[in-house]
Amino acid sequence: MDGRQCIVKICEGIPTSRWKKITENVLSKAEANGTLASYYKDHKDEYMCMSCYNSIVVNGSSRFKEHAIEWQRPPKRRRNDNNLILSESIALLTDIIFKREIIEGRPPIFSFSQLRSIMEDADERLGSLFDELEEASCIRKKERKLTGLWHINVI
Ligand SMILES: [Zn+2]
Repeated sequence: MDGRQCIVKICEGIPTSRWKKITENVLSKAEANGTLASYYKDHKDEYMCMSCYNSIVVNGSSRFKEHAIEWQRPPKRRRNDNNLILSESIALLTDIIFKREIIEGRPPIFSFSQLRSIMEDADERLGSLFDELEEASCIRKKERKLTGLWHINVI
């Protein structure tokens, strides 16, 4: 087992010659314990050391639960070349809302999160616009107060 490295980021690196392969079964046990850090899944069929395995799968130790929570958040959408400039994003957004409400006659959108999910479904490039909007205004915290103000008037 030489040269093998434990994939767990908070591994204490206790020298060991015993390793556990990260199987579907290991992942689902970790999930049940609340110790599944999202990145473990990326290392499926690789190995973790026995000490980490015990903490994650056997004991469900609190240190590893905290680690799992830290890694729960999905990584930020990667900014890529598909990004639209602001005016393009707004034009696209307006277009989608126009089609929805005027052509299809669907009810107006009242919450930011609803707007976001509908727009991202319609065109995933709009995701980065919402990332920016959200970062700029910490919108989640204020969302309750603002509900109702997010309807963009297209007429
Ligand atoms: Zn380890």
